[in-house]
Amino acid sequence: MYNLLTRADFLNRAGGAVLGSVAVAASCLGGQPVASRPHMWKGRKGSKIKRWDVVTIGNLSRNRYWGESDAKGVRAAICTCALIAGDGFRLLVDPSLADAADMAGELDRRTGLKPRDIDAVFVTHEHGDHFAGLGHFPQAQWLAAPAVAEILNKSGKWSRRVEGITDRLFDAMEVIPTPGHTNTHHSLRFDCDGLSIVVAGDAVATRDFFRERRGYFNAVDFELSARTMDKLAATADIIVPGHDNYFLAEGVA
Ligand SMILES: [Zn+2]
Repeated sequence: MYNLLTRADFLNRAGGAVLGSVAVAASCLGGQPVASRPHMWKGRKGSKIKRWDVVTIGNLSRNRYWGESDAKGVRAAICTCALIAGDGFRLLVDPSLADAADMAGELDRRTGLKPRDIDAVFVTHEHGDHFAGLGHFPQAQWLAAPAVAEILNKSGKWSRRVEGITDRLFDAMEVIPTPGHTNTHHSLRFDCDGLSIVVAGDAVATRDFFRERRGYFNAVDFELSARTMDKLAATADIIVPGHDNYFLAEGVA
């Protein structure tokens, strides 16, 4: 069921990434010639982003690609939480864990950082599993697209305000509208090591949902969700989805 890379594809990509325009030998491929055209990544060099990591790999409460019905949840959902770091900033996207010790433990286990080391937290959209751990970062800036910030601030759940931000963050990331899952959903796009990376939130639920351009069952607009995923496929080399590990966009597009 998975669209695995062929060996020739893999060698082409390795050649493009490691060897530039140097041709890759094909003698081990049954005599089939292999094109030597290097893969063209979408990202730019010279980004201020030096490092990014997945802190928690998310899962869905129900997953149709695992044979589960959309009608009811069969496990607790956890969202994918990612750290993006550059010169002078560490930003956490979608803090996922409601328990303070669990959130701090996963942050330490995956990055060696403490909650106080996080300068800013960005929330992609107003669903509770994507800001479950927000309160564990009281010293950080709390950020979201303006429309999302407004919803979070109106909820009365927080003693401090979530700041609305547009366009760019730390002069290193783009805040991009990715509607369909919710009307005001926003994702982050940035370059790192010459790759274009999108931390998508629930604009992409998992790799399987992306492959079929399918919104999760609670999407407000499935057609818009599909078009947003088309846009991300044209923009990203790597997608960090809302409830799965990150994946190579082209491999499933
Ligand atoms: Zn959601």
